Amino acid sequence: MPFVEYDEVEAICADCGRLFRSEDALAAHREESHTGRDEAPTMTCPTCQRKLPSVAALRAHRARDHPKD
Ligand SMILES: [Zn+2]
Ligand SMILES: [Zn+2]
Repeated sequence: MPFVEYDEVEAICADCGRLFRSEDALAAHREESHTGRDEAPTMTCPTCQRKLPSVAALRAHRARDHPKD
């Protein structure tokens, strides 16, 4: 793989599920949003019991994994 367009690169934040176009963008996001504190999962998906760190993350998870609910 000699060269990859930025548009083709996606990185996924394991903590909140957001998508980024590069590892750098993901790293910057994590610096901003997931540093300095332990983010204990606070939300539980009622469908699959997955734990998520925030309401926004839960909504993103449900939109992606349970779109029919
Ligand atoms: Zn994140
Ligand atoms: Zn779920």
